Amino acid sequence: MNTANDIRKTFLEYFARNGHEIVSSSPLVPRNDPTLLFTNAGMVQFKNVFTGAETRPYDRAVTSQKCVRAGGKHNDLENVGYTARHHTFFEMLGNFSFGDYFKERAIELAWNLVTKEYGLPKDRLLVTVYAEDEQAHGLWKKIAGLTDDKIIRIGTSDNFWQMGDTGPCGPCSEIFFDHGDKIPGGPPGSPDEDGDRFIEIWNLVFMQFEQRAPGDRVSLPRPSIDTGMGLERITAVLQGKHDNYDIDLMRALIEASAEASGVDPDGPFKTSHRVIADHLRASSFLIADGVLPANEGRGYVLRRIMRRAMRHAHMLGCREPLLWRLVPALVRQMGEAYPELSRAQALIVETLKLEENRFKQMLDRGLKLLEEETASLGSGGTLSGEVAFKLYDTYGFPLDLTQDILRGQGGSVDTAAFDAAMARQKAAARAAWAGSGEAATETVWFDIREKTGATEFLGYAEDVAEGQV
Ligand code: ATP
Ligand code: MG
Ligand code: MG
Ligand code: MG
Repeated sequence: MNTANDIRKTFLEYFARNGHEIVSSSPLVPRNDPTLLFTNAGMVQFKNVFTGAETRPYDRAVTSQKCVRAGGKHNDLENVGYTARHHTFFEMLGNFSFGDYFKERAIELAWNLVTKEYGLPKDRLLVTVYAEDEQAHGLWKKIAGLTDDKIIRIGTSDNFWQMGDTGPCGPCSEIFFDHGDKIPGGPPGSPDEDGDRFIEIWNLVFMQFEQRAPGDRVSLPRPSIDTGMGLERITAVLQGKHDNYDIDLMRALIEASAEASGVDPDGPFKTSHRVIADHLRASSFLIADGVLPANEGRGYVLRRIMRRAMRHAHMLGCREPLLWRLVPALVRQMGEAYPELSRAQALIVETLKLEENRFKQMLDRGLKLLEEETASLGSGGTLSGEVAFKLYDTYGFPLDLTQDILRGQGGSVDTAAFDAAMARQKAAARAAWAGSGEAATETVWFDIREKTGATEFLGYAEDVAEGQV
């Protein structure tokens, strides 16, 4: 069997053989880009190379990039535990051309890798192209010999990539694998495309224009290529699995969770093990890249991920911290490809243990309160915003944790009332502060609080630099 580690290696070596420089993954916290929450695509570290602001000693590169999509424009946190194909942390394999080869060679390289190196059967593959991109349509026909029904034209922004409101942009083409009619879901572009039958494995971006201003788009003199393929998704396909969580790498973590908790990995608590495996990876890699749990900013996203995982450990019946015990299994799986993970092992273990111990009692008590409150709600009910706020304020439950619990019971949270309760508390704090006679400093302090987002951070409203669409 090809392991995920083998599949990553095959990708890197294939593109190296084809003249690409193997470049290391950049950290999850983007350097020099405070506007982007986390690195969410392979192209992030090359953003300035694409715009021409920076040059490198190579014009073709290949990477396996650590990505986190748990905030900002790309947020897959709510998909984990619900779809077969999403993680909060995943690896994006990508090849890049900086003004070197373009569409034809990019399609050739991708098709050759997928069908020859990886040996996927052609009749299970289909592609999408941007509706207006006749050139890509023709190239797929010529190079891959795909029939018209396997080249689906998509007219939406899903197949048109833009770095931002201005800057490089262009059409894209996605390669899908058909996992067969036992799995519900329609092909891309169809009304039931959200199912998991047709899974997008690779996204090729053809950067051929520059958007100079709204309505002012010019052709780039040297068009570029940016691609991204999810390692876990291609591994699932190659290991004959439908679900990302059934690949060797994820399975090892799920089994570690099962062993440490004593709960069957495939029984009724299957989803909890999966969420734990996913969140363990995201938390550990974030800590290794210098993020620590906090009440705002990136650290609050980390804290939210950790607390969601802890709730699932609680569901497994664990009353002692669990996550930190799974770190060795993760380092065994991924430490060779990402040495920074091995180097940070002690810090990861300590940080997880500390946070788990800190939250344990509040989690117990908060869940009891929630149980009492939801007992009278019945399924499909709405939890009051005041209770959600009490859980947040007194028990340290991030709003999304409470929402996730309610979602599991078919219910929801009255978020408008939650926001109102939050606003009331802020106003009360402001009034108490004013009453203290230090009115002069008050405005300054609250201005800062407002600007820095205080304790409630739900991701930047806008990520300026986005990776794949
Ligand atoms: P999807 O439509 O399935 O959410 P996407 O179009 O958002 O995927 P891209 O932004 O195109 O994904 O990213 C490039 C590739 O990275 C995808 O083709 C997929 O293989 C992989 N990928 C994207 N998001 C995730 C995720 N949350 N977990 C695992 N792999 C992912
Ligand atoms: Mg997506
Ligand atoms: Mg997509
Ligand atoms: Mg895509």
